[in-house]
Amino acid sequence: MSGTAVAGAVRPPGGLNRLFLAGQDADYRTHLATFGAMAPSSLAPGLVDELARSGLSGRGGAGFPVARKVGAVTRPGDRLWARSPVVIANGAEGEPRSIKDSTLLRHAPHLVIDGLLAAGAAVGASKLYLYAPAGSIDYARAAARERKDARSIAFVEAKDSFISGEASAVVNAIENGIALPTDRIVRLTTTGLRRLPTLVHNVETLAQVGLIARFGAAWFRSLGSERDPGTRLVTVSGFVPQERVMEVAGHTSIADILESCGVSLDSVAAVLVGGYHGAWIARANLSANLSAGGLAPLGARPGAGILYVLGRHECPLVASASIVHYLAGESAKQCGPCLFGLPEMASILERLATGDRERGLRRQLEALTESVIGRGSCHHPDGTAGLVLSTLSVFAADVDAHLTGRCLRAAQPSRRSDG
Ligand code: SF4
Repeated sequence: MSGTAVAGAVRPPGGLNRLFLAGQDADYRTHLATFGAMAPSSLAPGLVDELARSGLSGRGGAGFPVARKVGAVTRPGDRLWARSPVVIANGAEGEPRSIKDSTLLRHAPHLVIDGLLAAGAAVGASKLYLYAPAGSIDYARAAARERKDARSIAFVEAKDSFISGEASAVVNAIENGIALPTDRIVRLTTTGLRRLPTLVHNVETLAQVGLIARFGAAWFRSLGSERDPGTRLVTVSGFVPQERVMEVAGHTSIADILESCGVSLDSVAAVLVGGYHGAWIARANLSANLSAGGLAPLGARPGAGILYVLGRHECPLVASASIVHYLAGESAKQCGPCLFGLPEMASILERLATGDRERGLRRQLEALTESVIGRGSCHHPDGTAGLVLSTLSVFAADVDAHLTGRCLRAAQPSRRSDG
């Protein structure tokens, strides 16, 4: 495959607006007029190499290199090669602060379908699935009905829960209707759905694949940076004028993203980056780029592109306690750390937030995080513990103040959006 094949007379998107270029609620005709046709089978032989050259990373949270994941089920000579893989488009964004995948499935479902078909052709898939919650799946189904090439896609409705989008939960939901994670040592790329090699890709990742398949790696890399090429979708919510989904170039700073949403940086106390399993970034560090490299020194990752803004007037301990309480309630309660550790963590953080001055609370929280990390079948306890540790670190002065009976955030808000 050449770097810029296929799209025929259609010119590659030239600006920052790539994924939504076809416009709101774009039908198949508009999609084709905007992006051109795509023939997955003719692209298949070179697609993995093109993805490798593009540097595309997963947009669902883990940020794993897409070409390596696809390559893991396409190695000739491997005995697994004899078993046709399964590809799943995952649109179950369980994160309460993320709406980018539902927005994408509503306004650009054909790009997701293109990416799913292209990935399926590249790995010689025996079956393709699109998994998404009730509010989104109808848009994808309607889009698939508009085109003949999407008839092989099976649609499975995702439960509306935080962990329903975890990769092994996705496989379980499709296989037996129960969206619970399974042991994390099982590699889905070798033993996934019905023990077949299985690729689970976020829907935004697949939409990017649909573009790279048409316009090539060099085009993809024409925005972003060497280490964070292309664009990504970001959901900005919290203390902002309006909750928004934005497409930004890789390596854009958090400050620039917020300012382009009309947020005054002076009004911000911190930003939760990456979602409820993410980390707080203090206002002083908002010049950091929303990329794996830019956030690593701050102990954060872009995750699923979530920026939740905390206003200066808001108590970060109250906000964090509320999130941890939510996370404790969202566990599948099938492992000890979730059954016992997370509710206890939520309870202690709530005591700290609401004025309990027992000096041992901070140490108790730290000890609880140590006791749950790495002990669950999935990442849920680790992600929750990570948020607690980030809260204790970034808001250490607030913790000190609460333990002496004060709160540093007494000012009244001048402007508010609940996002
Ligand atoms: S760690 Fe928690 S969320 Fe994950 S499988 Fe176990 S009980 Fe479920």
